[in-house]
Amino acid sequence: MKPASFAYKKTRSLEEAVALLGEHKDARLLAGGQSLIATLNMRLSAPNLLIDINGIGGLNGIAKRGGTVEIGALVRHAQAERSETIARHAPLIARAMPHIGHVAIRNRGTLGGSIAFADPAAELPACLMALDGEVDATGPKGKRTIKAEGFFKGLFETALGPQDVLTAIRLPAATADTRVGFAELARRHGDYAIVGLAASARADGKGLADVRLSFFGVGSTAVRARKAEAALSGGAIDDKRLDAAIAALDLDPHDDVQATAALKKHLAGVLLRRVAKQLLEART
Ligand SMILES: Cc1cc2nc3c(=O)[nH]c(=O)nc-3n(C[C@H](O)[C@H](O)[C@H](O)COP(=O)(O)OP(=O)(O)OC[C@H]3O[C@@H](n4cnc5c(N)ncnc54)[C@H](O)[C@@H]3O)c2cc1C
Repeated sequence: MKPASFAYKKTRSLEEAVALLGEHKDARLLAGGQSLIATLNMRLSAPNLLIDINGIGGLNGIAKRGGTVEIGALVRHAQAERSETIARHAPLIARAMPHIGHVAIRNRGTLGGSIAFADPAAELPACLMALDGEVDATGPKGKRTIKAEGFFKGLFETALGPQDVLTAIRLPAATADTRVGFAELARRHGDYAIVGLAASARADGKGLADVRLSFFGVGSTAVRARKAEAALSGGAIDDKRLDAAIAALDLDPHDDVQATAALKKHLAGVLLRRVAKQLLEART
């Protein structure tokens, strides 16, 4: 299928992008195009104007500033995958990257596009939640920052307003006691996950504190499993505690085209067992 006809405008400034979104109610921002163009081709959406933001300067940097890692919205997945800064200071993102689609998709797709698109089976929104990260957006009233926890509102729905451009995401930089874990089950490597888990914690003696388990592919957004988090926090983790955390998994997945709800729940337990092992490993 071919997309319905649309106008195209390449903008070089954030202000112009925001203004164009205000003037054209049915316009869409174009970043890497790896999700948007597919929806156009399948006629799932038919905007009258595409506003190409790839020419806006200053949105493709990766930097550690103090205790924070900032990643510009136009950073490509492949750029993040190769980044020293991300490998050292945002190890959860580094672990997740190779699971996003295939090389060709990672060469074009952007981190900002992935977060703004908010696919419930996508890796990055779950990582952002697991890391308690935040999102910067610029709209008609200027810049604002939104915590990840309040950003993902529902299926492909975020706190971004119709005239907002996501400009960056920010994550706490990993420290010596940061522990992260990531695993997903997909039919083929690079497919969207049937179920996935992004997790972070702080090493605390022989155990873990501040455990954050962010599952994806199990709801309309990434979902924190708070009872399982509590079951894993504090004290050494042995098989008995791990079994208790799996039994406590507070997830309520629905059947989808990939798997039944019961299978997803079972797979979530399998992933928790794998990721708990990663969380207990010291950073190298
Ligand atoms: C075959 C295939 C497999 C894939 N597999 C995976 C996978 O396993 N995991 C995964 O996470 N993704 C996967 N993707 C999607 C890929 O990661 C996309 O790149 C990503 O979801 C969207 O990023 P983009 O830059 O391409 O955004 P675009 O497609 O350009 O835009 C997506 C949406 O976000 C909006 N948008 C983009 N940038 C901004 C911004 N800065 N501010 C506000 N709104 C914005 C657009 O208007 C549009 O509505 C796959 C894609 C394909 C085609």
